[in-house]
Amino acid sequence: MSKKILILPGDGIGPEIVREAVKVLNCLRDHFGLDIAMEEALVGGAAFDDSGHPLPKATLDLALDADAVLLGAVGGPKWESLDISVRPEKGLLGLRGELGLFANLRPAILYPQLAAASTLRSDVVSGLDILIVRELTGGIYFGQPRGVETLASGERRGLNTLVYTESEIDRICRVAFDIAMKRGKRVCSVDKANVLECTELWREVAIRVGGDYPQVELSHMYVDNAAMQLVRAPKQFDVMVTTNLFGDILSDCAAMLTGSIGMLPSASLDADGKGMYEPIHGSAPDIAGTGVANPLATILSLAMMLRYSLDAGVQAERIEKAVSAVLDQGLRTPDIFTEGNEKIGTVQMGDAVVSVLRSAAI
Ligand code: NAD
Repeated sequence: MSKKILILPGDGIGPEIVREAVKVLNCLRDHFGLDIAMEEALVGGAAFDDSGHPLPKATLDLALDADAVLLGAVGGPKWESLDISVRPEKGLLGLRGELGLFANLRPAILYPQLAAASTLRSDVVSGLDILIVRELTGGIYFGQPRGVETLASGERRGLNTLVYTESEIDRICRVAFDIAMKRGKRVCSVDKANVLECTELWREVAIRVGGDYPQVELSHMYVDNAAMQLVRAPKQFDVMVTTNLFGDILSDCAAMLTGSIGMLPSASLDADGKGMYEPIHGSAPDIAGTGVANPLATILSLAMMLRYSLDAGVQAERIEKAVSAVLDQGLRTPDIFTEGNEKIGTVQMGDAVVSVLRSAAI
């Protein structure tokens, strides 16, 4: 039976980059036997303009029914003054919550062809291939009690609570170990076990889960050291697994090692491998409509979708090799352009990937 993919273009450059990713999907369906059915719906600001809500019920129902969701990006200045309950970002958070997407996978891959785009020395980052697995629905972002309260003295006090159950830690660690088995078979669990009891438990559970994966080498690192090591010698890492807060910070740090926000995909998965896939960047209102946005992060998000939700690793590799081949040809959108290459726009980049795929040169 065909796998159902829900396409959510969103706002800003979202529709432009998603259009190119859909071309790639169509190519895989028409020429490489990928059995998929696609539907499209509104989310974010576009949905608010249409129906007054950033996550309409019709969109949520389609997302719940789909095997995987591809999202462009949401948000933009047009909707910034709206009440927080109906801002575009609520659509995204609503989808994550309703779909139970507890595992956020953020690869930081630096194609050797783009090593000059990083702010770090190319020998430090060339060939970088890290995957950060971030817990997405628990930890200090959701723990109770929380808020700002006024003490008897009249002084105000803000508080948030870091809380994880053993089962929450167990399931995110299993995601990391399962993925490590398909990669370099190394997991680094990042915590602050020397100070935070909650992450002492995190470490204990990580070790217990690791016992079920004897082929995977498990190491532990305090988050402050992990931040330092990511910048000092990032290629030492294969898979990193960590809490919501630490993962939020470390994954942005790792992403920027590659120097190109337009190249990085992400996946958010539920307990059964169903997922939402999106580029890590936002809706880039500053370049929306100008035809220069880089669609490769979205196209690479498709590759993640094929690998993690549709059990189509061979098709995923086709996409990744095609992207690499296009970079080999010297084709660059402005965000990754360096002297000596050819500057092209969004549509030409999508066409180039499809052309390489179709040429069967890969
Ligand atoms: P952004 O990621 O949209 O843009 C940051 C910079 O990177 C901009 O200069 C932009 O032009 C550039 N850029 C981003 N994607 C690019 C691409 N594919 N090709 C070339 N250049 C690219 O971040 P921002 O400007 O802070 O946020 C803009 C809007 O996006 C805000 O409304 C924000 O809330 C929203 N946002 C949405 C998501 C999401 O949908 N997941 C994530 C982050 C931000």
